[in-house]
Amino acid sequence: MRRNRNAKIVATLGPASTSHESIEALFKAGADVFRLNFSHGTHDDHQRRLEVIRTIEKDAGRPIGVLLDLQGPKLRIGTFANGPVALEKGAAFRLDLDTTAPGDVTRVALPHPEIFAALKAHTNLLLDDGRVQLRVERCGPDFAETTVVVGGPLSERKGVNVPDVVLPLSAMTEKDRRDLAFGLTLGIDWLALSFVQRVEDILEVRQIVGDRVGIVAKLEKPAAIGSLDAIVDEADAVMVARGDLGVEMPAEQVPAIQKRIVRACRKAGKPVIVATQMLESMVTAPVPTRAEASDVATAIYDGADAVMLSAESASGKYPVEAVRMMDLIISQTERDPYYREVIAASHASPRANTSDAIGYAMRHVTGLLNAVATVAYTSSGYSALRMARERPCAPIVGMTPRKGTARRLALVWGVHPVVCKDVVDVLEVSDLACETVREEGFGETGQTVVVSAGMPFGTPGTTNLLRIAQIQ
Ligand code: PGA
Ligand code: MN
Repeated sequence: MRRNRNAKIVATLGPASTSHESIEALFKAGADVFRLNFSHGTHDDHQRRLEVIRTIEKDAGRPIGVLLDLQGPKLRIGTFANGPVALEKGAAFRLDLDTTAPGDVTRVALPHPEIFAALKAHTNLLLDDGRVQLRVERCGPDFAETTVVVGGPLSERKGVNVPDVVLPLSAMTEKDRRDLAFGLTLGIDWLALSFVQRVEDILEVRQIVGDRVGIVAKLEKPAAIGSLDAIVDEADAVMVARGDLGVEMPAEQVPAIQKRIVRACRKAGKPVIVATQMLESMVTAPVPTRAEASDVATAIYDGADAVMLSAESASGKYPVEAVRMMDLIISQTERDPYYREVIAASHASPRANTSDAIGYAMRHVTGLLNAVATVAYTSSGYSALRMARERPCAPIVGMTPRKGTARRLALVWGVHPVVCKDVVDVLEVSDLACETVREEGFGETGQTVVVSAGMPFGTPGTTNLLRIAQIQ
């Protein structure tokens, strides 16, 4: 089975998508990667869903990617004595570390000493996704006296964002460490790190996971945007996490930042996911708004590797319809002749090294000879990523002896991953490539296939071979 599109779909699983039937329906409708959101649900819930995914993968004979999304240092206020309070603009409001005393209209606990350590006078605090805004007047190591800048109702345990300062927080909490250890025993393919602020956050996680999983840096803090290129270099993939990004930064800046991130990732050849509220109204309606359809299409014209569904597929009323709609918007957009033009025009030039030279040659040869497919024989996935960076006209078959690599490649633009046997020489690779292209339905006898690989085989990061072959 092959998908007739280049960009991929990430679908978040949740209460609306737990049974075998519902997850299988999402896969059939077009989901390429499933996201297990560890902000919600128990380890048991996630394990059950993962087992279902692996069964579906086996039945379909297609690699499916699984992305474990860690909650990260999501900051929250404490509780109130008598239910929600109404904060009035201009009123004084105190935050402190005292979790034993429930809050009221004058104060509430904020059980995060790291925040107080980083606050200064005039720092802004955003509560409940930015609906309430406080400005710090005076603060110490265990309190902050603030003025309400934007008032409104506030109920317990609401989230807190502190956009203006780099918080002395690791991107991983104790809960994240437990969740990660659990995820590694399950066998996940991608790990998403929330609220990444600096390159060190990624290095810290890399120490733990090594190359067992790919690391997705979720960009949702202004500080991360400040060190965008360094983070893109260190991460294996990036998510434009527009939900929290749109709280921490003015909404009107998010579109340009989205484009900047996608551009930086395409230049580096790292997969990039555009996420959050893409088809939000489909949580309750069977069809999207025109603006949402246009939002998905925009991400596709920008050349993003994947678009993501959150509540739409996790807890909405129309999860399958949402995936199907995304699939339709992507394939329709990619069929627009203008799509090819913008993708080509926004293409970053290759770097002066062997693998990029091979990728560059591959794209031109593919166009010139009208090849039906390009095949990247790859053990780490690196070759396939460099091919995908070129955004060629023909599909990329990512042929790999490693199941984990195939599953990871499910996220990557234009790549159709296939698990194959280990091969040892060039002729074998090119025969196997042609056979695979035919079997997977990309071409027939007499048609041209462009094959790339690295010699010696099995050594990651050495794409140095381009072969033009005919399907026998
Ligand atoms: P979340 O991340 O859904 O885990 O919050 C995505 C976002 O913030 O956009
Ligand atoms: Mn987020």
